[in-house]
Amino acid sequence: MTIKLYFLGTGGWVGPAFRTYSSIALKVNENIYLLDVGESSFKNLQKTCLNPLNITAIFLTHAHGDHILSLPTYVINLGALGYERVLKIIAPKWVKESIRNLLDLITNLKVKVEVKLLEGYDGELAFDNGEVKVWSYRAKHIENSLMYKIHVKNKLTIVYTGDTAPNKTLEEIVKDADVLIHEATFMWGFEKMAHSAGHSTIHDAIKLALKMNVKKLILTHIGFTLKLPGSFKVGKTVVYVPNELDVISL
Ligand SMILES: [Zn+2]
Ligand SMILES: [Zn+2]
Repeated sequence: MTIKLYFLGTGGWVGPAFRTYSSIALKVNENIYLLDVGESSFKNLQKTCLNPLNITAIFLTHAHGDHILSLPTYVINLGALGYERVLKIIAPKWVKESIRNLLDLITNLKVKVEVKLLEGYDGELAFDNGEVKVWSYRAKHIENSLMYKIHVKNKLTIVYTGDTAPNKTLEEIVKDADVLIHEATFMWGFEKMAHSAGHSTIHDAIKLALKMNVKKLILTHIGFTLKLPGSFKVGKTVVYVPNELDVISL
């Protein structure tokens, strides 16, 4: 079984030019699961070796544009490519209107889209296709935003925070995670500013990984920071700071 993460966009809405907007492709065997689809996500996917026809589901964390604006681009391009599956979009129920408005931008919708709206309680089963099982939890960002715990059957567990300030629920779900993909919008030292904006710092992410013994921490949604190395070790935790289109094998 091959499990890989493709970083299609590693920045937030405000950030350096070389980081585009939030999007990660999780590839399990041939299937592709997208975690958020910020602007330019589809274009970046085209730059990889990934086949868009293998997209199985799109998971959205919240309705900020840096996480959802590629949605119509995916649907229109998948239609043009002859996508014959039903495109599954999983999102919190409060995003319903935003998804509808984005899909309304498409004049000729050729792809069958199935939107699963989540109630938004902690531990809600979001998806299960026998290969990957996903639960959702409330993030501490805008009022209606989610974090996802993804279990690749018999292999490993990944937690994806989306946008969030540090919170107790995240600490709980990270306990049994092998990989933590954590937002790191702010530099260390800017905790007060980050938390009041519903975000985290690099320091918050590392502190959590160390406390919960997470072996692999991946930082993403990175804002303006000093230049960071691609990877470094803190205690027993390996910290990755992927650039655009980097691939991490799990
Ligand atoms: Zn964001
Ligand atoms: Zn956001």
